[in-house]
Amino acid sequence: MGFATASQIRRTATLRPRPESPPARYLASMLRLESVSKHYGGRAVIDGLVLDVQAGTTLALIGPSGCGKSTALRLLLGLAIPDAGRVMFDGIQLTQATISQVRRRVGYVIQDGGLFPHMTSRENVTLKARNLRWDRSRIDARLDELRELTNFPLDGLDRYPVELSGGQRQRVALMRGLMLEPDVLLLDEPLGALDPMIRFSLQEDLRRIFRTLGKTVVFVTHDLSEAAFFGDRIALMRDGRVVQEGSLQDMTDHPVEAFVTEFVNAQRGHLASGHSE
Ligand code: ADP
Ligand code: MG
Repeated sequence: MGFATASQIRRTATLRPRPESPPARYLASMLRLESVSKHYGGRAVIDGLVLDVQAGTTLALIGPSGCGKSTALRLLLGLAIPDAGRVMFDGIQLTQATISQVRRRVGYVIQDGGLFPHMTSRENVTLKARNLRWDRSRIDARLDELRELTNFPLDGLDRYPVELSGGQRQRVALMRGLMLEPDVLLLDEPLGALDPMIRFSLQEDLRRIFRTLGKTVVFVTHDLSEAAFFGDRIALMRDGRVVQEGSLQDMTDHPVEAFVTEFVNAQRGHLASGHSE
């Protein structure tokens, strides 16, 4: 898909009569990390990280274990606070003052689903909506919609997480992430713990869901074929920064450094299994 680059957008923007503020905002940018750094124990876990995700697109974030993928998502959510740089969400800087407003617009799904074990699927999915005092009929209608969207069985709604398969638990986690109709979905290796068949069917369903809903998605994975399957763009990270961003083909044909080729070659076995387009 041909998305305008930030500089093209900037060029277009200068041709139009502009509102007073904010001048530096790219028109279609939904999520931005602007030279963000984050240290733990004196070590830069995130090191001048730059990311820009256009509205309605999926960015696949990939890289070796420990390179900072999960921390990058946590920074986007305000669960980790940058030591330097800014996190921008739809033109709003993430700060203590804006965090709750921003959080409401984000769905977050992690590898094991993070469901509350003492709540049924229905209770897990609807918790936030109930806290916000949505009325019953609105909650039921939304739950119905999500159940269809995620192919989740009706009789699973009143089961507890331990009574569900791994794939079903992730469908519940996804429904929960989508309940409040967020603009943005942040998914941290959501399929990482699933066996291959279940994973395959969830991949298909998830991609259909992203496309149907037109959400802005950041999808963390350590599997390059999965990154290519989901991502409009792929950002390859190493040591807390992006080494290369683009398509899988950019990385195979025009690697910017030896690490990119090493990473791609290490994953070749997976690519042969057929998910890349
Ligand atoms: P990834 O998701 O790419 O595997 P993470 O973002 O989870 O990597 O972690 C990157 C590095 O930062 C790891 O070395 C990890 O141990 C460290 N780290 C992450 N969170 C914390 C934390 N809260 N305190 C200390 N170190 C952390
Ligand atoms: Mg991680």
